[in-house]
Amino acid sequence: MTQPTSVAPEAQEEVLSTMNRDGSRRRIRPKLSKGRFQRRRLATAWALILIFTLIPILRMNGKPLMLLDIGRREFTFFGATFLPTDSFLLMLLLFAIFVGIFLVTAIWGRVWCGWACPQTVYMEFVFRPLEVLIEGGRTRQIEIDRSGPSARRLVKNLVFFVISAFLANTFLAYFVGWERLLGWMTSSPADHPGPFGVMLVTTALMLADFGWFREQTCILACPYGRFQSVLLDRDSLVVGYDRRRGEPRKPWRKSEERSAGHCVDCGLCVSTCPTGIDIRDGALQMECIACTQCIDACDAVMDRIGLPRGLVRYTSQAELESGRRRFLRPRLVVYSTILVVMFGALAFSLAGKSNADVTILRGLGAPFTVLPSGEVTNQLRIKIANRTDGERSYTLSLVGGAGLTLIAPENPLAVAGGDSELTVAFVNAPPSAFTGGELEITLRISDGVDFEEDRSYRLLGPSS
Ligand code: SF4
Ligand code: SF4
Repeated sequence: MTQPTSVAPEAQEEVLSTMNRDGSRRRIRPKLSKGRFQRRRLATAWALILIFTLIPILRMNGKPLMLLDIGRREFTFFGATFLPTDSFLLMLLLFAIFVGIFLVTAIWGRVWCGWACPQTVYMEFVFRPLEVLIEGGRTRQIEIDRSGPSARRLVKNLVFFVISAFLANTFLAYFVGWERLLGWMTSSPADHPGPFGVMLVTTALMLADFGWFREQTCILACPYGRFQSVLLDRDSLVVGYDRRRGEPRKPWRKSEERSAGHCVDCGLCVSTCPTGIDIRDGALQMECIACTQCIDACDAVMDRIGLPRGLVRYTSQAELESGRRRFLRPRLVVYSTILVVMFGALAFSLAGKSNADVTILRGLGAPFTVLPSGEVTNQLRIKIANRTDGERSYTLSLVGGAGLTLIAPENPLAVAGGDSELTVAFVNAPPSAFTGGELEITLRISDGVDFEEDRSYRLLGPSS
């Protein structure tokens, strides 16, 4: 008896530009379209690559331009460090960044994706050109896809590995700092197996992303890409095809008078698209990263056949439909207002920040102890975060409070610039000083330079 063969069902229509109807991956091998936007993007990309690489290395106010020290929960941006005690400021900053992204997207659409996102910048201006250099153009790459592994592909993957390792190190420098990274790079991996493992995993992820996953990152994985439908409106800038001018599309015949639309159905806008879509299918497609390659492709065709450029162009959905585009819309006013308020609050809070943060916590264990002398002692844990760049010595003292004694083994307490220290102190008081088991004291913390703060603290003691 013959067994029935199982055949994967095929989708009736295209589900994803990068998926065949039987569910297998359709590899995108875009053809580079040179033109005015490609030239501008090339210059922008290399400027950004330089910036991305230098940000963890360059310093401002003696600190890295950006350091995201997750372990110590300290975040440095352009010389300003946010300590764990600054969670409110950090929250304000993150919120302002989010609103800023909403505003930029509402005005300029996916300009970030097409021009500045590291995924696009490195993919289109480092990995893709190297791929063309080593394997050859689109046709040659498709041949290698069909014929299987080749020496050229092996060489390409080795080159990709080296670049991925470089990018992984650059990426890690944002989190551990350039000096630490340099120390690791110049010593044996056996001295730092953990960080070395992290670097290897990050390299492997980079290689998988730029060598294999590619446009899927934008189409499937990136949350920003997924949110486009709510961030954009009908007046946002998009790359779009002018259907009214282009249709009906018909191949170009030099000899015949043209009565059809301007689209000559050459397909170059499709073959150049890094996400494999056809811009003529609609102005707002979630897979479109606004890379402008189809604009350059179509402009070149229009130049060749003597028709005006701009059949595919930067436009908006509203402009494509009605010929008019509004700039000022309610959402822009709302986003801008929120942004001004957020940055105002941030600037105000930063300006009012003192040079140190002091946290006083109750000691661990019993709330108080009665000493053999009859005095009551409370243990205090005092954490001081030095927000300045240099080391400071903080002196602890009691303000008023006759009969009280402060015993602090580390007084003054030295704290390195940008660092924080925790110390323990004891305050002894006669039992008669307590009322209802409580005694309010004032502790002064001073660095003798420009920081002095009086902090109230409630001692606990016997209630009778
Ligand atoms: S449709 Fe055009 S702008 Fe959008 S991703 Fe494709 S080539 Fe880039
Ligand atoms: S490149 Fe222009 S002319 Fe060619 S198919 Fe695309 S829209 Fe039509």
